[in-house]
Amino acid sequence: MPITADDVTYTYMKGSPFEKDALKNVSLEIKDGEFLAIIGHTGSGKSTLVQHFNGLIKPSAGKVCINGIDTRGKELKELRRHVGMVFQYPEHQLFEETVYKDIAFGLEKQGFTEGEIEKLVKEAVSTVGIDLSILDKSPFELSGGQKRRVAIAGVVAMKPSILILDEPTAGLDPQGRDEVFQFISRMHRQLNITIILVSHSMEDVARLAQRIIVMSDGKIHMQGSAGEIFRDVAELEKIGLSAPQITHLMKKLKAVVPYLNDNIFTVQEA
Ligand code: ADP
Repeated sequence: MPITADDVTYTYMKGSPFEKDALKNVSLEIKDGEFLAIIGHTGSGKSTLVQHFNGLIKPSAGKVCINGIDTRGKELKELRRHVGMVFQYPEHQLFEETVYKDIAFGLEKQGFTEGEIEKLVKEAVSTVGIDLSILDKSPFELSGGQKRRVAIAGVVAMKPSILILDEPTAGLDPQGRDEVFQFISRMHRQLNITIILVSHSMEDVARLAQRIIVMSDGKIHMQGSAGEIFRDVAELEKIGLSAPQITHLMKKLKAVVPYLNDNIFTVQEA
C-alpha cells in the first residue's frame, strides 16, 4: 500500500489567534516495503505528518492517499486496518488487567474468534521479543521497556502492512532502545512491511532507514540516504544538533554507515 502526500498543508486552530501551519505544501511518496525515517527539530511537523498517514488528521489543503484511496473519503476505516500507528509513550494507553487482554483489545474489536486472537497475540509477543510467561501478568508489574513492547505488540498483532512509530524509544534506557530497534528491523526484514519511523536516535536511523526525511518548519528540508543526509555538518547544525552532538554522531556513524567517506569525518573532528 503506497502512501502519497500531494501538496499537503495542515493548519491547527485555523481562524484563531493561535493558528499554526504545521505542514506547508508537503509532497512525498512512500513505497511498499520501504523503511523511511523522519527526523527534525521538535515542532517541525513530524507527528502531524505521520498522523496524516492513517487519516487521523486530514489535510487542510492538498491530498493524502493510501493505496490510491483519499484519506478524506469513506473507505478510510477499512484502510486503517492495514496501517498500524504507535504513538509516543504508547504504554500510557495500557489499561487492562492482564498483558494478554491488552494486546487482544484491538483484535476483539475487529471481531476475530477467540482461537484466532490467541494465535495472533502469541505471534505478536514473540515478534516484539517478550516472554510468553508475562501474558497473565498485570501490565503495571512490568519494566518500562516491557510495557513499551506490550503496547507496541497490540498494534503489531493486527498485522499492519504499514507500521508507523512516533518516537518508539523515547525515555527508554539504551538496552530497551536496542531491543525495540531490533524487532523493528526484524519485522521489516522478515515481513517486508512498510516502516515509517520518527526518531531522534540518529545512529539508529542511519543504520536502519533506507531513506531519511528531514523536516524543518513544516517542510521537507532534505531527503536521502544516511550517507547523503549526514554528510553535511552545516546541515546538521541547521536541524538543531550541537557541535558535541555532531562529533559524537559522526564517530558512531563511521561504525554503522561504512560507505560514508572517512575524510569527511577526519576533517570535521579535527
Ligand atoms: P514534531 O512532531 O516535529 O515535534 P508536531 O507535528 O507535533 O511537530 O508540531 C508541529 C507544529 O504544530 C508545532 O508548532 C506545534 O506546536 C503545533 N501543534 C502540534 N499539535 C498541535 C495542536 N494539537 N494544536 C495546536 N498546535 C499544535
